[in-house]
Amino acid sequence: MAFGCAKRQQRGLAEQTPTMQHADPAVLAGLLRGAQVTAALTGAGISVESGIPSFRGAHGLWQRYNPMEYAHIQAFLDNPAKVWVMLRELDDLLSQARPNPAHYALAELERMGKLKGIITQNVDNLHQAAGSRNVIEFHGNARRFVCLRCRRAFDHAALDFSHVPLYCSCGGLIKPDIVFFGEEIPPAANRAAFDLAEACDLMLVIGTSAAVMPANFLPKAAKNHGAVIVEINLEPTELTRRFTDYFLEGPASGILSETVTLLTRKAG
Ligand code: NAD
Repeated sequence: MAFGCAKRQQRGLAEQTPTMQHADPAVLAGLLRGAQVTAALTGAGISVESGIPSFRGAHGLWQRYNPMEYAHIQAFLDNPAKVWVMLRELDDLLSQARPNPAHYALAELERMGKLKGIITQNVDNLHQAAGSRNVIEFHGNARRFVCLRCRRAFDHAALDFSHVPLYCSCGGLIKPDIVFFGEEIPPAANRAAFDLAEACDLMLVIGTSAAVMPANFLPKAAKNHGAVIVEINLEPTELTRRFTDYFLEGPASGILSETVTLLTRKAG
């Protein structure tokens, strides 16, 4: 905490207003230019423009599938065939989705040396598909699968989905490598995410309602260690009033693309 305060003062941020300010891509470009270590935390919202609705939204999966019956690890172990009905629908959605300009803009920021890494709550693999390299998968990745008995890993392409549930040659049940309700965050991802959050001096929180624990502790951890918090969302969230320094309202694709354009122009 003491280190965090020192870091804010050192960078002349202590005198900044403690209340949230509305901002635009020009302000964000300036913040990115001045930051030493920038991290991004992304959520379902960044992939909405790729055709994947947020689970809670009007067209989301949780409107039709009760998450406790379809996304809890115990439900999967008790009745995998039932849970696979929802998983197949998710798989179809993800198979058709492609990265959108927001994913590409973050990949470009990383290439430009302006973004250290992305912590994503998404399981859709779209950051990686867009070319981002340092992606911490906080909730796993639905394009990978794992045998619950022998821990063998499988790529999506290696499996035949015409007969589900899927079983490994050892007899074990195969599960998508995603964090179900009732499961822990993978320890390596958890450690890497909090390390990055505590090391960054600028965190971009993009397209997440910040309602899911423990991912929503990450902006708080960053803030406690002195980071400036920038939120990009269609609407204010749990974080906005208490933790956000700069709020950019609108679709992530337009805001991030324009920010990259501004940075590129200035650099050129
Ligand atoms: P959430 O559904 O709780 O919140 C999504 C947020 O994104 C909302 O605040 C919404 O206002 C905002 N948003 C919507 N469209 C946007 C856009 N174009 N630009 C910017 N913001 C936009 O999502 P969450 O906080 O990520 O939590 C949901 C959980 O479900 C996560 O754990 C995530 O793993 C999982 N999930 C993943 C995917 C995916 O992999 N694509 C999709 C749905 C849900």
